[in-house]
Amino acid sequence: LEQPKKDIPTMESKVAGVRISNADRQVYPEAGCTKGDVARHYETVGERMIELAGHRPLSLFRCPSGIDGQCFFQKHDNGGMPDSLSKIAIEESDGDEADYLYATRPESLIAAAQMGSIEAHIWGARVDRLDRPDRLVFDLDPDEGMDWPRVRDAAFEVRDALAELGLRSGAIVTGGKGVHVWMALRRTRGWDTVKLFSQTFAHVIAGHSPDRYTATMSKAKRRDRIFIDWLRNERGSTAVAPYSLRARPGAPVAVPVTWDELKTLDAPNRFSLGDMKARMKQDCPALAVQEDLQSLTNDVVAALQDWAAQ
Ligand code: ATP
Ligand code: MN
Ligand code: MN
Repeated sequence: LEQPKKDIPTMESKVAGVRISNADRQVYPEAGCTKGDVARHYETVGERMIELAGHRPLSLFRCPSGIDGQCFFQKHDNGGMPDSLSKIAIEESDGDEADYLYATRPESLIAAAQMGSIEAHIWGARVDRLDRPDRLVFDLDPDEGMDWPRVRDAAFEVRDALAELGLRSGAIVTGGKGVHVWMALRRTRGWDTVKLFSQTFAHVIAGHSPDRYTATMSKAKRRDRIFIDWLRNERGSTAVAPYSLRARPGAPVAVPVTWDELKTLDAPNRFSLGDMKARMKQDCPALAVQEDLQSLTNDVVAALQDWAAQ
């Protein structure tokens, strides 16, 4: 008969009722943030994050050995995911079905942190209508080493160009190098329209100022330019979720900002894990954007096409 194994003592704690193993393990060695800190971050921002990122298929960026170890994106349920992360079967481009994960409550996000997940990335559609995108994102990706004020100016330029088409947008600093300009869509159009609109818009901006922008992913063409990444707006593509932690030094967070705030913001990774308690006491700029549903009407599409033909 085998002797019962002695419990191995590990630092275990509970965050919002979710068991977190090895809560004292370093995830951000430089910043001194632990797995417990990551879980508590998702407790702090959880409710707000669910309003913005809930019920959307996820891609989780997991770093089980911390941000200096091996990290990987996980979008499918591998069978070992906790019950508080919901699952939905989705047909992929190859015709096969796969189970995707989505969050419905703060505990879903905390359970993901227990699995070593740090970042949450979301689809631009919700699980009840995956064929009708409701979120359009222009992800401004600067070339290596570009000064932040240029990226910031670009966000305003994209905002103003959208405004010329009658569209209102918001800003999210990614916690990395760039900023996302985004808007909420009424679910009247399919991916084909949203993708074509995004692609055309990015090419119009880049065509107008080819010395400053590119609409193609190629790193070679990015030299001293900003890539207007419109490819976030395809079925199956993701963008970082508002209030997601980033697996980058300093434990930065992707944070929605007002245009006024962006004017003087000195870095896209200005906000970190420790700033979120105070931030949650303010109104969320993204909630107003999310409620402001807009349509890519035939008129809007035609106005853009006119512009493209000029
Ligand atoms: P930054 O401001 O530094 O660019 P970002 O979140 O916009 O931060 P990107 O590198 O522009 O980061 O990535 C855009 C999106 O593409 C990510 O949010 C992610 O959803 C997706 N992505 C990037 N790399 C992968 C990958 N290897 N697998 C799956 N999705 C990816
Ligand atoms: Mn980006
Ligand atoms: Mn990108």
